[in-house]
Amino acid sequence: MTKKSFTTQALNIPFPKDDPHRALQMPIYESVAFDFETAEDIAANFRGELPAHVYSRTGNPTVEYFENKIKALTNSHMVLAVSSGMAAISSTIFNLCVSGDNIITSKYLFGHTYALFNQNLPALGIETRFADFNNTEELESMIDENTRLIYFETVTNPQLEIPNIEALAAVAKKYNLILIADSTLTPPNIFNSKENGVDIEIMSTTKFISGGATAVGGVIIDNGTYNWKHNKSLAPFVDKMGTNTFYGRLKKNIFRQFGGNMTAHSAYFQILGLDILELRVEKCVDNCMKLGAYLQSNKKIKVVNYPALANSAYNANSVKYFGNKPGAIMTFDLESEAACFKFMNKLQIIRRATNLNDNKTLIIHPYSTIYVEFSEEKRSEMGIRPTMMRLSVGIEGVNDLIGDIEQALA
Ligand SMILES: *Cc1c(COP(=O)(O)O)cnc(C)c1O
Repeated sequence: MTKKSFTTQALNIPFPKDDPHRALQMPIYESVAFDFETAEDIAANFRGELPAHVYSRTGNPTVEYFENKIKALTNSHMVLAVSSGMAAISSTIFNLCVSGDNIITSKYLFGHTYALFNQNLPALGIETRFADFNNTEELESMIDENTRLIYFETVTNPQLEIPNIEALAAVAKKYNLILIADSTLTPPNIFNSKENGVDIEIMSTTKFISGGATAVGGVIIDNGTYNWKHNKSLAPFVDKMGTNTFYGRLKKNIFRQFGGNMTAHSAYFQILGLDILELRVEKCVDNCMKLGAYLQSNKKIKVVNYPALANSAYNANSVKYFGNKPGAIMTFDLESEAACFKFMNKLQIIRRATNLNDNKTLIIHPYSTIYVEFSEEKRSEMGIRPTMMRLSVGIEGVNDLIGDIEQALA
């Protein structure tokens, strides 16, 4: 049989157990605890011999169904859903690193990931080494016997750089390092992390997946590609747990004890969003292409940056890794900060907000908001110009968006 489309698959993932009412949509199991028929059963469960839901901090049927959907759609080994994208990132690092270890990442990162890596990890004795991912030699020179992993974002924001993932995967393989991707901006219908050498994929499902910014959430995806014997923290457990070592330790150690579970309500929204993810992403990308062409043709606009446009330095990578559908974030410049503010204040359809991949198109001036705590020098180094605005393109009619921009520029 031919491979089914992403959406057909998404709509037809079976429930973990048959629903007694034959519900077509997974119910919200908002219950903290679950009953056992006998004392023997609950004892067997605690010995690990009878899988069942026990307590919703450690597992929940609605959350499990969301995890099963992500697992099937990514063709991965194991998936754990957590309370947020940041919980996904911190839990993954704590599962793989202890004091004395170091990690290598890019200098361009989502703001709170940067703060976690630059402040919290060093305070716990885990060193972060910031590399230029365009320079593989420099990256290799930073690796030593205490390096555990390489961490990258599939598209950086708001620089919109797409790293050479093939080169990163080759370096990771050469030194037996774990390759971790934050693919929040490029969900599984456009990016296949497993086929691109990624061992662990992380997503904030708050963004594209929840759809319409309905709920905060995150997922940790184990592609089943790494030999955990090579990781110092996990090696002692490999004989017993085999390929499930990463997931098993995550669940029975970090996740259980740090308490970052996703709620059943949140999982329900994530499930609804995932069902129509492909439709929304396709529409957003189509809108981006048309907006890009319009903005490039408008003399008042200085710079237009979207990796799917032919003039982008990252267009080849956009084609190679994402079939030239590199998410729905773009940036453009006016002649001054004052002109940006004036323009933003006149917009009537496009909203002034900081989220990404809402159904609604959102605009922000990163220089005066997200990066306001950074020095002038640091902002310049990170490519955050006072003349630049970031657009997170939604699913509205593109002519309405163009009309809104046109009247705001007048
Ligand atoms: C939003 C975001 C995060 C953090 O996700 P939360 O769900 O807000 O915790 C991490 N990485 C990227 C790329 C993001 O855009």
